[in-house]
Amino acid sequence: MKIHEYQAKQLLKRYGVTVSDGYEASTVDEAVAGFQKLGAPLGVVKAQIHAGGRGKAGGVKLVKSADEAREAAQWMLGRKLVTHQTGPDGQEVRKLWIERGSDIAKEYYLGIAIDRETKRPTVMMSSEGGVEIEEVAAKHPEKIVKVAFSPSKGLLPADVVKLCRGVKLAPGLEPQAARFLPALAKLFVELDCSIAEVNPLIVTKDNRLLALDCKINFDGNALFRHADLLPLRDLNEEDPKEIEASKFDLSYIALDGNIGCMVNGAGLAMATMDVIKLYGAEPANFLDVGGGATAEKVTAAFRILLSDPKTKGILINIFGGIMKCDVIATGVIEAVKQVKLNVPLVVRLEGTNVELGKKLLVESKLPIIPADNLDDAAQKICKAVGAGR
Ligand code: GDP
Ligand code: MN
Repeated sequence: MKIHEYQAKQLLKRYGVTVSDGYEASTVDEAVAGFQKLGAPLGVVKAQIHAGGRGKAGGVKLVKSADEAREAAQWMLGRKLVTHQTGPDGQEVRKLWIERGSDIAKEYYLGIAIDRETKRPTVMMSSEGGVEIEEVAAKHPEKIVKVAFSPSKGLLPADVVKLCRGVKLAPGLEPQAARFLPALAKLFVELDCSIAEVNPLIVTKDNRLLALDCKINFDGNALFRHADLLPLRDLNEEDPKEIEASKFDLSYIALDGNIGCMVNGAGLAMATMDVIKLYGAEPANFLDVGGGATAEKVTAAFRILLSDPKTKGILINIFGGIMKCDVIATGVIEAVKQVKLNVPLVVRLEGTNVELGKKLLVESKLPIIPADNLDDAAQKICKAVGAGR
């Protein structure tokens, strides 16, 4: 689960990580009032969307007066901000964060994530702050210092020294870093984060260490332990199709292609997407209907796939193991009757009672294109949408 910068900063503050003070605003007037309440010569108006790269897209503006704050807020609110992380459609700005402006002497990168190789939370720090860490990793990997730490012991003083020296932080700032870094590490572990990133972490001209931006993602599998974090979820930032899918316990991820896929099992879903690509088309989604592919679930999945105007064809690829193929076929038939199917549908069934399942599909007289195996199914759906090769 992702949260907004202003929410992440409230968590940082709770853990003792220094952030600038600021105010939320949902209207232009609130933004102006926020700037005035700061009582500072410099303010920053920041668009709150679940994507980075706002600065370059005009979503972070330095303002020196109430009029400038008004102008920035007017420009941002209601705008679909397009950054390199939002996709071409952009993300609508519904909320602003008005922050006290900082005088920046130097920007650093600071991030914590789980390193899958060492299987431990790992702090990454770099003197190249403000820019994308992926870019630094590609061009100057030597400029990223990494330290793994034990979740039970937290980040130790020696780790802090290694990080600070590694990025050549001024020695005078080490005592501040010795509070800042372990506090972020503690937050990461206690709140079951998958990412906690401060980019940039800055040194101000008056020598203070400050989190100027912050991105926190929580591990969805651990959210049951954090009921207090659930209200931070912002459904406006999520794909409505993904929200609908989660209601039916379907694992659904929207993608950019035009072939809707309905598959049971994550591995089979991945393989199906691969074969679709192999035959020259692109999957519109990842969708795992799970072990119990009931008529209700299949119908919900159909509706979600068909609600995407990009879907030009649907491929159902289901292995009947515990759930028998005739039961699945009955579910598919019921679902097709309920929804208005206006795109070609290819169905490939395999497993227990497969012959009976196929027979039911044929006897239904519905416009279902049967397929014998995964290869056949992918070729047929690619051909049906005119993408085959
Ligand atoms: P992002 O582009 O979405 O990552 O948004 P950030 O919050 O990281 O802001 C982008 C950039 O705006 C930062 O790297 C800074 O260079 C600049 N910026 C943000 N806040 C301030 C501020 O208080 N003072 C100054 N001088 N620059 C700021
Ligand atoms: Mn940033």
